[in-house]
Amino acid sequence: MKFIEDIHVKGKKVVLRCDFNVPIDNGKVTDDSKIIKSLKTINYLLDKECTIFVLSHLGRVKSEEDKAKNTLMPVKERLEELLDRKVTFVTSFEDEALNEDNNIFLFENTRIYDYPFKLESGNDLELAGKWAKLADIFVFDAFGSAHRSHASTAGIAHYLPTVYGYLIESELENLNIVTKEAKKPFVVVMGGAKVDDKIPIIKTMLSTCDYLLVGGGIANSFLKAMGNKIGKSLATEDEAILEELRYLIDLYKDKIVLPVDFKVECNEKVEYRSINAITDDDIIYDIGDRTVTKFDEYIKQAQTMFMNGTMGLFEREEFQVGTEKVFECMKYNQNVVIGGGDTVTAVNKLGYSLNFKLSSGGGASLEYIAKGKLDALEEIEAFEDEKISM
Ligand code: ADP
Ligand code: MG
Repeated sequence: MKFIEDIHVKGKKVVLRCDFNVPIDNGKVTDDSKIIKSLKTINYLLDKECTIFVLSHLGRVKSEEDKAKNTLMPVKERLEELLDRKVTFVTSFEDEALNEDNNIFLFENTRIYDYPFKLESGNDLELAGKWAKLADIFVFDAFGSAHRSHASTAGIAHYLPTVYGYLIESELENLNIVTKEAKKPFVVVMGGAKVDDKIPIIKTMLSTCDYLLVGGGIANSFLKAMGNKIGKSLATEDEAILEELRYLIDLYKDKIVLPVDFKVECNEKVEYRSINAITDDDIIYDIGDRTVTKFDEYIKQAQTMFMNGTMGLFEREEFQVGTEKVFECMKYNQNVVIGGGDTVTAVNKLGYSLNFKLSSGGGASLEYIAKGKLDALEEIEAFEDEKISM
């Protein structure tokens, strides 16, 4: 797949797929970091005098009400402020606004076509063709949607010459540090709430890393699998997963490093517990200081690091300390990549955004690490030389 700088775009009409799936409250964008990350590609195309038709999804659309609720209008307003120019908002293929004299148009949420029929998510090629008809080339820059083959991601590439933009370039560059170029010792830190959806990435990491430091709710499941008491803590109930964890613990006993102490909530009080002193009323919400010290022995040796999932319930101040201290230990390493929606939120909240390479793709980042590929990018590549004529 070619990069935006590899082709001539000057004066061309471009369909640009971005990821503007941002949090919105009361008609205002509350976190515009995804919009900001898209500006480099947008400005490049505007500088080259292109006419850009921007597409993005926003949330899920399962009813008529969802269409109104998940409008991209607040994104249009924020984008206008950031670009300091007018963006024309387009609500349908018949919209008169398409005739306006402007260089940048933003289409309404691509998922309005998911109701009543799942045309967008079902990768309906007729829908994709309607967007493709507007332009000469397709620039794909929605890294956060690159693991989904939808009409507005992979579908359009069936019609138009397709290149990737600057955001995808930088995200892949960061992730390749841990997938393709990890220097040893390669130390991975994993935490977060649920182990069930992280099994694929845990397995990939165990096969490639030197040490896997496990915290957060995930550690509870590992400990439960080993027969430790974890009180009322969050852990998987799934016997098959517990069995799989036992298998992994046995196979990779020299790589897996588990917590030895915790901060727990016990009858609404915050208390400290060593691993052997957990009571039936305890809920583990964070790792303790001895665990941080133990993790730091591995972090200090690391050449490359990857982290996904927080060490505790960082949304509550009492339980953010473990995550904060692990960030503090990691900040001396130049090659730390951090991926996942909530983990990146924790990095920003705790003030470490300049210390690490952040992979903001959420599900896409984790899927790329676990599978080594992304569905939309694969499909775009497969149709590189085989276009449907319009
Ligand atoms: P990401 O979104 O980056 O993939 P996760 O969602 O897996 O990360 O992990 C972050 C979430 O895990 C946070 O919401 C945090 O509160 C939760 N979490 C971490 N440790 C625990 C725990 N011990 N008990 C309950 N929730 C936890
Ligand atoms: Mg999450």
